[in-house]
Formats: sequence, C-alpha cells, structure tokens
Amino acid sequence: MTELSALSSVPAGSRDGVLRFYFGPMDCGKSTLALQMNYNHGRQGRRGLVLTKHDRSGGPRVTSRIGLGSEAIEVEDRLDLVTLVLTRGPIDYVICDEACFYTVEQIEQLADLADEHGIDVYAFGLASDFRSQMFPAAQRLFELADEISRLQVEVLCWCGRPGRLNARVVEGKLVRTGEQIVIGDTGDDPVRYQVLCRRHYRTGDLGTG
Ligand SMILES: [Zn+2]
Repeated sequence: MTELSALSSVPAGSRDGVLRFYFGPMDCGKSTLALQMNYNHGRQGRRGLVLTKHDRSGGPRVTSRIGLGSEAIEVEDRLDLVTLVLTRGPIDYVICDEACFYTVEQIEQLADLADEHGIDVYAFGLASDFRSQMFPAAQRLFELADEISRLQVEVLCWCGRPGRLNARVVEGKLVRTGEQIVIGDTGDDPVRYQVLCRRHYRTGDLGTG
C-alpha cells in the first residue's frame, strides 16, 4: 500500500472498480462514446477525469469527428496515473481516450486505480496499428480488462464491408513499415489513415481506382 492510498475516496478493498476497454477502428465513434459516458456519469453526480493522448485537436482536449469536445488531461509518457488521479480526488471514474497510445506501465496503473482505489476506468482506443499489429497498451488492456467491447458503430470500407483495420497511406499508397505512431490527417501532411476491411487491407486496395 502506498501513502497515496490514504487520499482515495474508497478504502482499499471495500469496492473494486471496473476496468473496461472499448476498441474499434478510426471513426467508429470512440471519442463520441467517451464524451457521452462522461456526460452521463457527471449527471449522476459522479466525479470524473478525462484523459487523452495525441487527440486530433493537438491539444489537451477530447474531440470527436461529429463536433463534440471536452477539456482533458494530456497523458505524457512519464505521467503516473495513480498519483494524478489521487491528487485530483475524490474521483469516482476516469475516462481514458486514445488509451492505445499510453505506456504499458500506465495501463498497469489503471488496473491499480480499479483494484486498490475502487475507481472505475473506461478506456477507449484502437486495437491495432497500421501494420494490423496490436499496440502494446491495447494488448495489455485485452489481458487485464474486466470487460472488452468492440464498438459497433458502423464504419465501412469503400467496398461496403465492415471496416476493421487502420491503413496508413503515404502519398496515396498503403504502407506497412515505419514508426508505430505517426499522427496524420493534420492538414497538408502526406500521412493519412483510412479504414479498410480485412480483404482490402491485406491486398492494399484503397478503392481509388
Ligand atoms: Zn473493402
């Protein structure tokens, strides 16, 4: 037990928090659901924090493509999430957007928040990167989460099949090698991402003719 345990609103062991992971490709509504969940819990008088990393707005906010937004805390690699949450307390729940980009150690800290401090953790993120391989943080969430949900908001490949995988497109071509995290879709950037079905991810057909 750390000295920070004394700051928790719930004595260790009296109530377990839940750790949930919601995953899906880009544009499937993850950030929208994260913001909706924050709104719903807040209305019930629960006290929450919203965390994000590399949001598309480029600032410490969670934004969704349909125009919703909320202030958020940017998760730097060296940020200890247990310390962060306990010093902002009392906190009932934490919304973690873009959790695929957190460090594995930070995912362990989210489990500590649930188990040691009774805080509910709702994590949202991509499962796999542009190579169709799992992000380390997403893998750890699959291993540790109490509940895992694939978000079913329909995002379709250009062919109409369900979108499953995020392709990185550089100068019009699907690429399969490079850094795991490159933020794209930021304007004139030559890097963009496109959601494809498994078939077209594997064949590299972007539907551009
Ligand atoms: Zn397709």
